[in-house]
Parts: sequence; C-alpha cells; structure tokens
Amino acid sequence: MDDPSGKKRRTADCALIVELMEESMALSQKKGHHPLTPGCNCIVCINKRKDILKGPPRQWRYRL
Ligand SMILES: [Zn+2]
Repeated sequence: MDDPSGKKRRTADCALIVELMEESMALSQKKGHHPLTPGCNCIVCINKRKDILKGPPRQWRYRL
C-alpha cells in the first residue's frame, strides 16, 4: 500500500541532506584551503574525517 506520509518524509530527508551538502560546499569555498579542523562542517573536513574513520587505505594489489 502506498504511504503518502512516508513518501513525504523521505522527500523531506532528501531535501535536508541536499541542503547540508550545499551548506558544507559553500562553507569550504568560503574558508578556502585549510587543514582538517575539529568541528568544521565543510565538505573537505567531512571527507577527511570519513577517510580517517575508514582507516588507512588498503594496499593495492594487482594480479596480471
Ligand atoms: Zn573544514
């Protein structure tokens, strides 16, 4: 069964995420290049934090 209220909520969530992304992009543009700053919500710092949470990059292995 179609749930119009659930659909509406999902759309609102998407709009919120897009808004947050736009905000973090604008923030990083405004701040320019800067090192990872705790509490900074610009897109660059968010991505750097994500990388840290992921841990060190896996070693690339090539099989020929
Ligand atoms: Zn930042």
